[in-house]
Amino acid sequence: MENIYKFVNEPEHKKMLREGDGIGTSATRASIITELKRRNFLEPKGKQIISTTLGRNLVDALPDIVKSPVLTALYERMLKGIEQGASDFDAFIAKQEQFIRDQVTKANSGSVSIAGGKESIPVSTLHKCMTCSAGLSRRSSTKKKGSYWWGCSNYPECKQTYPDFKGKPDYSKGRNS
Ligand SMILES: [Zn+2]
Repeated sequence: MENIYKFVNEPEHKKMLREGDGIGTSATRASIITELKRRNFLEPKGKQIISTTLGRNLVDALPDIVKSPVLTALYERMLKGIEQGASDFDAFIAKQEQFIRDQVTKANSGSVSIAGGKESIPVSTLHKCMTCSAGLSRRSSTKKKGSYWWGCSNYPECKQTYPDFKGKPDYSKGRNS
């Protein structure tokens, strides 16, 4: 995005984004837009491309740090440093790993629900998975109408499920396969 600096307020960040080439490269723009359309985050409207309700709700649900163009610009600066031999690759990867872990922990500790999507199933903050302690989601059964089951929000890493008993997961009958 060439003119991304227009969307940030901090003078220092503006300068940083203006000095580089914005974020990303124009070569990847078309494929990113195609992907965002495929995921129903964008849709064509006449000659324009607009965001969908799902797309806007996703942006609202994400923490500020993740959607900041400054973060991407910082990453690109670090990658350039690695390319030039000035920065350490392993240190960069370790930092990325820690950052993603922190964000996933944060997301799992609260109830995040994104309206407008097919999968807008909230993650419980009360009922946790006994295997990995991530929040569980109550899902309606596709086989039996009006019947529910609980699945781990950490799926597919964790395949733990529990039957529903009076609106709560029945921990005594958990399955992990
Ligand atoms: Zn689990």
